[in-house]
Amino acid sequence: MADAHTVVTRIPPSPTGRLHIGTARTALFNYLFARHHGGKVIFRSEDTDRARSTAAFEQEIIDGLHWLGLSWDAFSRQSENVARYTNLLNNLLEEGKAYLSVEHAKDDPSREVEIIRLRNPGRSITFRDEVRGAITFDTTELGDFVIARSRTDALYHFAVVADDYESGVTHVIRGDDHISNTPRQILIQEAIGAPRPVYAHLPLILDEKRAKMSKRSGDAIAIMDYRAEGFLPEGLVNYLALLGWSPGTDQEDFSLDELVEAFTLTGVQKGGAVWNRDKLLSVNQRWMRKLTDAAFIERGGLAEKSLDVAKLNKVVPLLKEKAHTMGEARTLLEGELALLFSTPQLDIAKLTAKEPADRPGITAQLLSDTAAVLSSLPEEPSSEETKMLLMPRADAEEAKGKGGRGALLWPLRYALSGQERSTDPFTLIAILGTAESIRRIQTASARLIAQHHAE
Ligand code: GLU
Repeated sequence: MADAHTVVTRIPPSPTGRLHIGTARTALFNYLFARHHGGKVIFRSEDTDRARSTAAFEQEIIDGLHWLGLSWDAFSRQSENVARYTNLLNNLLEEGKAYLSVEHAKDDPSREVEIIRLRNPGRSITFRDEVRGAITFDTTELGDFVIARSRTDALYHFAVVADDYESGVTHVIRGDDHISNTPRQILIQEAIGAPRPVYAHLPLILDEKRAKMSKRSGDAIAIMDYRAEGFLPEGLVNYLALLGWSPGTDQEDFSLDELVEAFTLTGVQKGGAVWNRDKLLSVNQRWMRKLTDAAFIERGGLAEKSLDVAKLNKVVPLLKEKAHTMGEARTLLEGELALLFSTPQLDIAKLTAKEPADRPGITAQLLSDTAAVLSSLPEEPSSEETKMLLMPRADAEEAKGKGGRGALLWPLRYALSGQERSTDPFTLIAILGTAESIRRIQTASARLIAQHHAE
């Protein structure tokens, strides 16, 4: 057991569903608070609902939290703690703080069951919430509420209080939706002689319509769906931390370690925290940009695509500029940027789409001149030096009359990419390398000349 001054928090998910963003955010705050204070975190699988709890959900929750970078110091399952609950229930019965009551079963009134009710002193209870301040409840209306279906079948609230007591939990940090459970749990604490922990109830996560975030809100709510989409755990953790907590400074980017350092309950807001996918995307993009190029390729699983490694390395800056998730990066490589890895199919009519009307047939010449000029570049030119070499030539075409710079830049870009829309030709040349760029441009020029002869 922890000594009197150690902070102990808990991560107590119910394994009755997937790991949701709300559960992950609450787990994160418990983790941050405990680590900030050099304390301990307990993971507790709240599987009292035997019918709906599954090992697969429990595993997904554990895997998801580990993926986010969270860890804990102890692990327990409520289903394995039954003997302890029975002991505590027996004590309460002996002390007269609870009593057995023979009643008709709820689901089948013809059957009689012996349930256990707490003798409720029925007074008003005030507890201090670190987020909301003092909260007062009148507990008379709760009556002598049921705490167990039998000596061996403790109900949820009893199990929670018994476990928090056993683990020496000092701080209960959980969602707002548990505020109304708190007076009941305090009454149970007082009956079993457990100290009252500090409470902090976190604001709910709301969707853009300010309704509780749910499947109907549109965006994914399962952490593993964000993982599959190619979000980085660094990005998601950073974003989740800012959902309902603010550092009180302008800092927006926080690693998990930096969050541990900065986190305090005073920074938690009262009002609902609105989920904003655009913000999540931009936070995630910033974390993707912080990766080295090699780490980007590896973390994005991009090397598995068996693409030309040299080109892949050169395309990373472009991916960092455009993609917000690794999924987007993969889509770019398969779509818009696939042209870099395989020879484009050219549509001759498109090559000459911007040919100046007053200089028919000029495109082939412009392309072969450009190919010749490019041979003065090193094999791996930067896009800047390529631009410095070619821009004056595009300007010269503009000076010659109709067509403007596009007279050169359009067929050049199309010859390199085979696409009507793509990244600028200088970036393309830098990624393709000088030799392959020249080859693509010469191919386009040769096709134009061949077509001209055929006419
Ligand atoms: N098992 C509860 C839940 O998943 C947590 C209860 C608590 O934090 O006290 O919502």
